[in-house]
Amino acid sequence: MNVFVVNCGSSSLKYQLIETDSEKVVAKGICERIGIDGKLKHKPTGKDEVVKEVAMPDHKAAVAYVLEALTDENSGVIADLSEIDAVGHRIVHGGEKFASSVVITDDIISAIEECNDLAPLHNPANLIGIAACRELMKDVPMVGVFDTAFHQTMPKKAFMYGLAYEYYEEYKIRKYGFHGTSHSFVSKRLLEILNKTDEPSKVIICHLGNGSSITAVKDGKSFDTSMGFTPLDGLIMGTRTGSIDPAVVQYIADKKGYTIDQVMNVLNKESGVDGLSGVSSDFRDLDEASMAGNERAILALEMFAYRAAQYIGSYVAAMNGIDAIAFTAGIGENDDKVRAAICSYLGYLGITLDVDANNVRGKEALITTADSKVPVYTIPTNEELAIARETVALIS
Ligand code: ADP
Repeated sequence: MNVFVVNCGSSSLKYQLIETDSEKVVAKGICERIGIDGKLKHKPTGKDEVVKEVAMPDHKAAVAYVLEALTDENSGVIADLSEIDAVGHRIVHGGEKFASSVVITDDIISAIEECNDLAPLHNPANLIGIAACRELMKDVPMVGVFDTAFHQTMPKKAFMYGLAYEYYEEYKIRKYGFHGTSHSFVSKRLLEILNKTDEPSKVIICHLGNGSSITAVKDGKSFDTSMGFTPLDGLIMGTRTGSIDPAVVQYIADKKGYTIDQVMNVLNKESGVDGLSGVSSDFRDLDEASMAGNERAILALEMFAYRAAQYIGSYVAAMNGIDAIAFTAGIGENDDKVRAAICSYLGYLGITLDVDANNVRGKEALITTADSKVPVYTIPTNEELAIARETVALIS
């Protein structure tokens, strides 16, 4: 079956066409600068990448160019659109309405719209992508896969804030958590490796990328996670502060004469390891700067690992135990130094890193010694494949 996986942002659209029996990517690409000018980068597997600068006034135009590229005589991978069996859409926020993926219908679209307030930058863009695909591929079944759905199993004591209850009742202010598709995919794989798919289990998944979050997964279900009402909470990230005393917001606003929007911009886009180091949000640049002795880069990396280790410790306590830990996403899969720095705090769990095995990038691997009490793995995430699998499961 060919599943077209779509991840629509406000001015971009990432896609993959996945053949789900072999789980191979047939083609993938991205449309950028939608609504500004427009650029399509299309990579058919086994053929050269095609880059086209073409006017993309809206997402419908972008989808049309992608479908054209997929069926083109030269860059194409399918003869015509009838070879696309289903579309899987990534949707950021499903609020409390969606605890799993769904087949998209008019009613479902209305229900997703009701979650727009919770993710005003992302959900409307996701819906525009859905509308564009529905218009251009009328009879093709479509599935929505939510970043928040996996975390809907968190117990109330984990997802509530210590905020007056009426704010939850009236405005649904609570922890939702994000990266759910990745945490679900990687935790499933980890439980397979451990042979604990159908047994009681306690694992922790560290999704460390540009945005980072850590999830406690108990018996295969999300039990607690570090991101909150928004993806700003929790770990220190590329440009985001992570958890911070909320009183800082008012203090910066007063000192700088900023609006709340301006302060939130500082917290979301000018902070994290980027703002701390003054070097970059990219850990490759930070590693290089720290090796050259840049003290702020060294501090940023130390803080990143320290905060991650704190979350791991708190989740071991919350679950009263731990069977295994997995690192995933750009940093988790590739940065051996960050993994080593985090594991250096975990000796009390009987974790001993295997320095040679930890010298691994982008591959599934066991990175602890044979006598480590808790095994630690790197497991590459694949959100597109997870969306394709969910899509097949729902339409079959
Ligand atoms: P996103 O949240 O954008 O999906 P990714 O999971 O792709 O992010 O992670 C991107 C980040 O991964 C980069 O900003 C960089 O910090 C880090 N990264 C990627 N490759 C490496 C590498 N080889 N070594 C260290 N860090 C890396």
